[in-house]
Amino acid sequence: MNYDPKSLIRFACTSLRAFGCSQEEADIVANHLVEANLTGHDSHGVGMLPMYGAQVKDGNLVPNQTPDFMPANGAISVVDAKRGFGHRMAILALDHAMKTVADQKVAILGLRNSGHISRVGTYSEYCAARGYVSIHFVNVVGHDPIVAPFGAREGGFSTNPISMAMPMDGEASPLLDMATSTVAFGKVRVATNKGEKVPEGWLVDGEGLGTTDPVPMTNEKIGALTAFGTYKGSGLGIFAELMAGALAGTTTVEEAEIFPNGVLNNMLSIIIDPSGFDDPAAVQNRIAGFTEFIGGRSPAKGVDKVLLPGDLENTRRIDRSRDGIAVDHETIRQISEMVEAFGTPKDELLKALIAR
Ligand code: NAD
Repeated sequence: MNYDPKSLIRFACTSLRAFGCSQEEADIVANHLVEANLTGHDSHGVGMLPMYGAQVKDGNLVPNQTPDFMPANGAISVVDAKRGFGHRMAILALDHAMKTVADQKVAILGLRNSGHISRVGTYSEYCAARGYVSIHFVNVVGHDPIVAPFGAREGGFSTNPISMAMPMDGEASPLLDMATSTVAFGKVRVATNKGEKVPEGWLVDGEGLGTTDPVPMTNEKIGALTAFGTYKGSGLGIFAELMAGALAGTTTVEEAEIFPNGVLNNMLSIIIDPSGFDDPAAVQNRIAGFTEFIGGRSPAKGVDKVLLPGDLENTRRIDRSRDGIAVDHETIRQISEMVEAFGTPKDELLKALIAR
């Protein structure tokens, strides 16, 4: 079923209000999740709501949290989110850190101990809307590491995403937003549920050899996901862990607490005012020139057009805004069940949804 995006925001808001979020927090989280769906990243869209509900029930995700803002140390700011909803915590933290940009032309943020911050590209977009270049490194703790360092037979870190973007007339363009694993674990679970094999290169088995069988990893945590791009992607995943967990945060997977439904993020963000280098208009002209150059390269046989990072998401946003967002019945059922467990009748929730 395809749903009207605005109705999906109302549906997500009602769910989050049931979990105890204020209207303001529910709006921020709901808009973030539906934007992830609009850009095609369904793994980080409204399907996250049952996990958030379970985390709130367990006391590991705190609605309406007030983060601790440490005073800036030069251009460096640290914010402890104290397990608040990461979507709102990260925005509050970026606002706090960006105060140093006026004087220093740069801000470096360490966001630690945050609830899931979901689609990291959102924060690149937030910085770009203010005219800033930004780079974000994220690590993931709270559960066993699921991505094998190159050459290992078991996980050593998680999907540790990286995002960066250039500001272009208030938009993030280009915008790179990627996990450092080849694929998300959700895709492996889906293949198991459907009784399908996964493509070569996604997984290693318990001996560290490539496998297309998703069942041992899904059901018994035997083997691990691969990092993208063999040892180079593995190196980036390791550095995301070090930047976000060891430097900006206080925990890497090596020492972090593991708990049921456990997902916490730490993030190191570097926010740069282009005017520290040159006239921002001149920088923007160079960005536009180079991106047009890349987009205009002759496509390989079978490829329509060479894409920049973020192009695919922009096309999907247009398509899904027009055609609606497909959410499967099982996901809607899981969300409704969780919302009912918080005492809000499912009819009240479902009436928010409008099909396209
Ligand atoms: P992906 O593989 O779909 O895309 C990665 C990047 O490649 C994007 O910038 C995309 O624009 C670009 N791209 C894709 N196809 C392209 C093509 N044909 N040509 C040129 N560029 C192309 O994304 P992913 O790695 O699966 O990540 C999905 C989302 O998951 C991201 O939003 C990420 O932030 C999020 N994530 C979050 C966490 C967390 O703990 N919060 C962890 C992992 C991932």
